[in-house]
Amino acid sequence: MPNSCPKCNEKNIVKSGIINERQRFYCKDCNYYFTVKKLGKQIDDYFVTKALQLYLEGLSYREIERIIGVSHVTVSSWIRKYNIKRPPHSDFHPVYKVFKQSELIEFMQNEANIKGSGIIITEFGDKYMMIKWERFKK
Ligand SMILES: [Zn+2]
Repeated sequence: MPNSCPKCNEKNIVKSGIINERQRFYCKDCNYYFTVKKLGKQIDDYFVTKALQLYLEGLSYREIERIIGVSHVTVSSWIRKYNIKRPPHSDFHPVYKVFKQSELIEFMQNEANIKGSGIIITEFGDKYMMIKWERFKK
């Protein structure tokens, strides 16, 4: 169920049939009918965003394929579709690691692991993925 009506933002919503294979909802406050995307589509959107993000961070199509489990052909089609151009990363290449939460905490506790680097942490299934650059450590 959506949390609120997209038109009036009230939460007085009921289900109202299925249109074009989508659940339709009805807002009792403003009499507005609307549908929402299926959950599967939302998960796809999430992976598209992750793939574009990883690409911008300097990872190759095949590295992205290994990380998010979407073929490098699909990844490359997303890059074209959204017309993503990444700036040159000539002097450094990111490394990435997948941690359980406890391992992530352990890693972060050692300042030497994080000092002088850029880090992004993103949720990845039931674990956490860390992308790290060491461009200042030369
Ligand atoms: Zn409404």
